[in-house]
Amino acid sequence: MNHKKTSRRLVLKQLASMTALGAVNSLRSLPLAAAGNYDPADKAGLKIEGKVIDRKDENYEIWRQSMVWHHSKPNRYPDLMVRVQSERDVIAAVKYAAAHKHKISIRSGGHNSTGSSLRDGGMVIDVSALGDIQIDVSKQIASIQPGVRSLQLVTVARDKGLSFPVPHCPSVGLSGFTMGGGIGWNYAQRGGMSTFSIVGAEIVTADGKQVVATADQNPDLYWAVRGMGPGFFGVVTRLHLQLYPVPEAIMASSYIFPLDKLETVTTTIDEIRKRHNIERIELITLLMHHPEVPADAPPEKSKICFVTAFAFENSTDKARAALAPFAQSALATESLVQIENQQFSFEELYDRYFSLRDPAGRMARYAVDNVMTDEAGKTLHALADHFRRAPTKDCHILAAYGMNLQASDDACFSSIADAYLGCYAIWDREENDKLNFDWLQQTIPLMDPFAKGHYVNEVEGRLNPDRYRQCFTADNWARIQQLRQQHDPQGLFYSYLGHS
Ligand SMILES: Cc1cc2nc3c(=O)[nH]c(=O)nc-3n(C[C@H](O)[C@H](O)[C@H](O)COP(=O)(O)OP(=O)(O)OC[C@H]3O[C@@H](n4cnc5c(N)ncnc54)[C@H](O)[C@@H]3O)c2cc1C
Repeated sequence: MNHKKTSRRLVLKQLASMTALGAVNSLRSLPLAAAGNYDPADKAGLKIEGKVIDRKDENYEIWRQSMVWHHSKPNRYPDLMVRVQSERDVIAAVKYAAAHKHKISIRSGGHNSTGSSLRDGGMVIDVSALGDIQIDVSKQIASIQPGVRSLQLVTVARDKGLSFPVPHCPSVGLSGFTMGGGIGWNYAQRGGMSTFSIVGAEIVTADGKQVVATADQNPDLYWAVRGMGPGFFGVVTRLHLQLYPVPEAIMASSYIFPLDKLETVTTTIDEIRKRHNIERIELITLLMHHPEVPADAPPEKSKICFVTAFAFENSTDKARAALAPFAQSALATESLVQIENQQFSFEELYDRYFSLRDPAGRMARYAVDNVMTDEAGKTLHALADHFRRAPTKDCHILAAYGMNLQASDDACFSSIADAYLGCYAIWDREENDKLNFDWLQQTIPLMDPFAKGHYVNEVEGRLNPDRYRQCFTADNWARIQQLRQQHDPQGLFYSYLGHS
């Protein structure tokens, strides 16, 4: 019997019937599990409550693809995937991996654009089933397991009158998001990056021990967990997060311009920021294709600039007052469309601005790179022409102004700048991979002259492994290497993609 053909048929059949594991890209392109030199008899020694899938498992390919949320499934094939059900499982998996010389990668929400949890060979520890949330209302602290997603924390915290700067899309994993930085809802009032709201972590280290990391206990690990992102050398089994009072009134004003009016947009934003104190406002500018215009329409009829100011305040009056500088500016008088002072709940925010239907939130093939910059306006202008030539309609560029970041000795996150600017290539068909990766690659020389750093969760490390180093100051990068050597001397945990 031809095993390859049989297993391929089986995989195709199972994929066709399994929508719950996420939409799967072109079936024609579905790769078979690579042969590898791993001995499957080995798996029997790993006794855990959760599930262990090895290369011989008939569902191997389904599990492998489900590790990555979007459709750009990497051609990288782990030997083992271990879906843990408890912290005990994590410890058992780490010890087993160390004893059998499997390198470890970690998967939580699966949203990382590079698919960083999938490596060639080794063991993926999938923590997505660990979803407990405990809230200490008096201390305003959430203690969450690493499988918790954005919307889950919003809902549980809100019932206690509390909130957290969660990712803008409901399904993003909180551990990957916060450990790399985390530009959350209401970032401007919450320290710019959610990583600064990590007040403690529980970590299983390379020696299989579970340790607590806070500013006072294992401060080195605490420093590393706050910003290292997809190169961290341990498994985080719990995060303790600072919560904040839930804002009573969430209000947004949006303004739409043709892209040709970008100059009006950027100069008006600069003027508003000079003349008014809008430090509490989350201000986002998107260069995008108009969602209702056909994909092949010329750029002058399709490319727009979509500006939204979000106010998170305690009353509708305060929120309206916070948005007044926008309503009184050229954004209101010169835009094609104004949608002002709309009130939302957190759930409605996700749905209205970054829903699964929108370019930014939908499942597709996906790649992103970015700069942290003090010159968001200039960077947008430098990219505008290139954006007009975007190969597919959902490619977009997002600028988040007024991050209000402060450097901290307690965090390795070190790209301190006024704004985040991300270039997103989003497409559906595999045959457009090259076009989109090329387009993204070409954004780098255009935006990098304005960079003060980069955001590690959203760099395209598959094309440019050195991008990870550029996310940190030289001192912090050196300390990361030194801590890795100290806490994981055998190199049990995979480092950043492309780094040994
Ligand atoms: C649709 C979408 C919306 C997004 N929205 C935002 C947003 O609003 N703001 C923002 O800042 N970013 C956003 N992102 C980017 C997001 O922050 C990163 O992709 C992040 O890495 C996702 O984390 P994850 O846990 O879902 O992903 P995963 O792919 O599961 O994890 C990424 C990596 O993080 C590390 N990691 C995760 N959990 C652990 C753990 N428990 N222990 C040790 N290491 C761990 C591992 O190295 C892992 O490979 C978005 C991404 C997508 C696709």
